[in-house]
Amino acid sequence: PRLPEPDVVAPHSEDIRPPRPSPESDKYRRGVLGLIAGSEQFTGAAVLAAGGAVRGGAGMVRFASVRPAVDLVRQRWPETVTTVLEAGDVADVGSLVGRVQAWVVGPGIGTDERAEALVAAALGSDLPVLVDADGLTVLARRRDLLRRTAPTVLTPHAGELARLIGADREAIEARRLEHVREAAAELSAIVLLKGSTTLVAQTGRPVHVNPTGTPWLATAGTGDVLSGLTGAFLASGMPPLDAATAGAYLHGLAARFAVAPHDRPGEGQAPISAYDVITALPRAFRTLS
Ligand code: AMP
Ligand code: MG
Repeated sequence: PRLPEPDVVAPHSEDIRPPRPSPESDKYRRGVLGLIAGSEQFTGAAVLAAGGAVRGGAGMVRFASVRPAVDLVRQRWPETVTTVLEAGDVADVGSLVGRVQAWVVGPGIGTDERAEALVAAALGSDLPVLVDADGLTVLARRRDLLRRTAPTVLTPHAGELARLIGADREAIEARRLEHVREAAAELSAIVLLKGSTTLVAQTGRPVHVNPTGTPWLATAGTGDVLSGLTGAFLASGMPPLDAATAGAYLHGLAARFAVAPHDRPGEGQAPISAYDVITALPRAFRTLS
C-alpha cells in the first residue's frame, strides 16, 4: 500500500527543476512574461522585479508601466520590451494579453483605482498570474477578482496575508503553517507566505517548506526580486506550485551566496541589497544538477 502523503515537505536540490532551453528553443517558447510594476512614486520595485525575471531565464520580459518606471527599467534592463501606460489607461495591457504566457502584477503599483484596474486586467486573462505587494493590498478589497480558472499565485508576507484574509498579523505569525494552508483553500490560489521561513501551499498538496534563505533577506526590495523570478518560471509553463517552490529556493540560495560569497572560516557575512540577490542568481542556478 502507498504511504499517505505527508502534510509538509522540504524540497531538495534535485526537486528544483527550472526550465532549460533545448536546441529547439526560441525566446517565445522559453516564455514571455508580462510584468506590471512601478508607478510615478515607486520605480525601484519595477527594476528589481524585472531583474528577477531576466536572471530567472524568461525568454522575454514585456514590461508595462507609467513613463518614469519604464524609463528606469529600460536603463537598467535594456533586455526588456516596454510599453508605456498613460496614467489611468489599461487598454494597452489588454493588447499584450495574446503576447505573454504569464503575468506578474503588483510591485510598486500603488493601491489607487488605476492600480486596481491593472490587477483586474491581469487577472481577467486566462493566463497564470502572480500577484505581489501592492497588488495584494488591492486584492484585499477585490477578492472577487480571484474567481478565475487559470492559476493564481499570491506571494504575501504575514502583513499582506493578514489584510487578504482579515486576520491579524500576530495570529498568522503564530500559526504560519495552518494559515498558509487555509489561505490557499479560501483564496483558490497557490499561496507563498514569506518570512523567516517561506511556505508554499496548494490545496491537496503537502505544504513546501523552503530550505534556503537567510535573515539578511529582510531588507527592502528582495520580495520584488522573488516575484519576477517566479514569474519567469510561470511564463515557461512550469506548474505554478513548482514555479513558486523553485523561486523561493533559488532566491534564498542566491541570497546566501551574496551574504557569504566564499563561505570560508574567518570570512564572515555582510549585509546585502536586493540587487545583490539578482546578481547572485546565476551562481544559485549553477548548483542545480
Ligand atoms: P518582502 O516582505 O516582500 O519585502 O520580501 C522579503 C523577503 O525576505 C522574502 O523573500 C522573505 O521571505 C525574506 N525574509 C524576510 N525576513 C526574513 C527573515 N527573518 N529570515 C529569512 N528571510 C526573510
Ligand atoms: Mg514585498
